[in-house]
Amino acid sequence: MKIIDLLKQDKVTFSCEIFPPKKDNAFGEVFNVVDQISAFGVDFISVTYGAGGSTSKKTVEVAAYIQNRKKVATLAHLTCIGATKKQIEQRIQDLKEQGIENIMALRGDRPLDSTTQGEYRHAVDLIREIHSNGEFCIGGACYPEGHMECDHKKKDILYLKEKVEAGCDFLTTQMFFDNNLFYNFLYKTLSAGISVPIIPGIMPIINARQVKRSCELSGATMPARFIAIADRFSDDPLAMEQAGIAYATDQIVDLIANGVKWIHLYTMNRPQTAAKILHNLSHILR
Ligand code: FAD
Repeated sequence: MKIIDLLKQDKVTFSCEIFPPKKDNAFGEVFNVVDQISAFGVDFISVTYGAGGSTSKKTVEVAAYIQNRKKVATLAHLTCIGATKKQIEQRIQDLKEQGIENIMALRGDRPLDSTTQGEYRHAVDLIREIHSNGEFCIGGACYPEGHMECDHKKKDILYLKEKVEAGCDFLTTQMFFDNNLFYNFLYKTLSAGISVPIIPGIMPIINARQVKRSCELSGATMPARFIAIADRFSDDPLAMEQAGIAYATDQIVDLIANGVKWIHLYTMNRPQTAAKILHNLSHILR
């Protein structure tokens, strides 16, 4: 099933993101996560791609399990930084062989210690490659607060438009913790003529370590309301988990109340967190 068709449904679409195992002998754990998340009746599950292609085959294997064994639509991530055209063509072929129809086309983060350029400079180059390689539904990444490397937000939106014009069917956002940033971003994309669905990505922050790490990695701003929660509860794991789930639930309720039709949850392979959020939304999503 193509994700763009799921996004056109007359209901709120709820999807989850998971990551593949780092070690070959850890597939069982990840399949167990998939089994639990599939049982929640989510619309699709995305599978990340390890930095620099480190989990490339594992991403395909987990995506194939989701789609072919669990019969749930899947979105396989693919990054192009440092990759050759031949490697990318091979990965696209692997996905085709598994009948996977949806690819999240990303540049990937630049490795700090490498000068390798590869054959692709930006995600738009990968989107063009995938587009010319078959009938895939293509997703792309976007950044309500601007991408960390981009010195000017206006340019970031222009490059985003280029990705959509190259064949991107929908966009998923980087995590954000203040919905007003997302609403402002929607205004900007609309006035730039970007009309594809933009799915807000929600990250439940449920422990102290995540508070610092998530902001460092994503560049997302922590609003004062969230900082107060982290200050008060981060030393108490159970309280922090409860507060983080309540905060993410609140963000989602506000998004849906304001007419947003798609929600993507960064689950960090914690099905119990997703279950608790879905429980909080049981009547809202029905
Ligand atoms: P691009 O769209 O190429 O943008 C990167 C930078 O280049 C931006 O500053 C942009 O403004 C600029 N730019 C874009 N096009 C041009 C152009 N034509 N000319 C000049 N400048 C340009 N990383 C992983 O390794 N694996 C994953 O699975 C993964 N999943 C992700 C999922 C989501 C929803 C998001 C938001 C991010 C994900 N990432 C993942 C992280 C992502 O790879 C990084 O944020 C990366 O730094 C940028 O990727 P991109 O696809 O947005 O790149």
